[in-house]
Amino acid sequence: MHQHTRTDPYADRYAARAAGMVPSEIRALFAVANRPEVVSLAGGMPYVAALPLDIVGEMLGELTQRRGAQALQYASAQGDPELRARICEVMALEGVHGSPEDVIVTVGSQQALDLLTRIFVDPGDVVLAEAPSYVGALGTFAMYQADVVHVAMDDEGLIPQALRETLDRLGREGRRVKFLYTIPTFQNPGGVTLPASRRAEILEICASYGVLVIEDNPYGLLGFDGEPMRALRADDPDHVIYLGSFSKTFAPGFRVGWALAPHAVRAKLVLAAESAILSHSSFSQFAVREYLTTQPWKQQIKSFREMYRERRDAMLESLEALMPEGTTWTRPAGGFFVWVTLPEGLNAKAMAPRAIAERVAYVPGTGFYADGQGRRNMRLSFCFPEPDRIREGIRRLAAVVEREIDL
Ligand code: PMP
Repeated sequence: MHQHTRTDPYADRYAARAAGMVPSEIRALFAVANRPEVVSLAGGMPYVAALPLDIVGEMLGELTQRRGAQALQYASAQGDPELRARICEVMALEGVHGSPEDVIVTVGSQQALDLLTRIFVDPGDVVLAEAPSYVGALGTFAMYQADVVHVAMDDEGLIPQALRETLDRLGREGRRVKFLYTIPTFQNPGGVTLPASRRAEILEICASYGVLVIEDNPYGLLGFDGEPMRALRADDPDHVIYLGSFSKTFAPGFRVGWALAPHAVRAKLVLAAESAILSHSSFSQFAVREYLTTQPWKQQIKSFREMYRERRDAMLESLEALMPEGTTWTRPAGGFFVWVTLPEGLNAKAMAPRAIAERVAYVPGTGFYADGQGRRNMRLSFCFPEPDRIREGIRRLAAVVEREIDL
């Protein structure tokens, strides 16, 4: 009987912070979006089937046989030193020159977000984030009862003037900002990238107001043209904490990400990680390290980039050809996402069930804000479906939007 009731019989026992724990809109959507007849433009899953899985399999088998006694053992909370050295080589591609001593390996960059919020944020503290921002980060900030204040963004990312005005306003209100959380390159969900000139300006503003920056950069190496952008961390090692991940450049299943932080912050992160997990999986760390040492990983990233570029093109061309007038969208130069703004008066959240009925799924925009903005927006992912499915998905979506306008 009890398991059928909707009220939670333990509700009066949870800590206050558990009250903010509610399933994200994305997660609720995934159940229906994953039905085979639905074209899902909702999830941000990398296309791991493009990896040479037989070779990865051999590598993992050999790893167990040759070094199993170590790879299946506990490890240190900071992470494998060899892997940390490889991670520094990866970051160097974006102009970042960090020491392996200042790196902590985390369970995806998601855990780095959790640990950072844990060590910096007391309930009610202000955290700045782009409007819109990554739903998983907003969830973590909510978990620690942070007060998320959004800073406006346009097609070139975070707007420096808006950042300055927000900091001035918060200063007048006597509120202390703990950090700015930003995804400067191929943003999730916006698909936009901060140009070099704005990068310098934002660093300057943050330094002058004494605000730390968390630079979340899981997509930086997945640009469709030209060289990787120079990371924020490259130009201000004292104020910027850099988060990276192998989820999109290799595979999310290993759950290997990292943070590069000023020395003292890194030390706190290791203590926080010890309490959370004792140590990361040795096996996962060895697997990634082996992959980076023995496999042509740069070549693999190049082929990921080509695959995702083709999917981005399919999405943008279909949007251009089919979307009704008054609909606008971003044009990502890398990463996984396009951010769509529907014509005035439409509501992407209300439309979502009607889209699912027409066998196409997306994520409504409201989930990417802490303050209820985003009703006319949706995030479309082009990472997982093949180009023809993307075209079919946009065809279905455009028809749904047409009908919505006529409602
Ligand atoms: N940050 C951003 C911006 C992301 O898009 C994601 C994954 N969707 C993450 C962090 C977390 O990735 P992971 O934990 O797999 O490294």
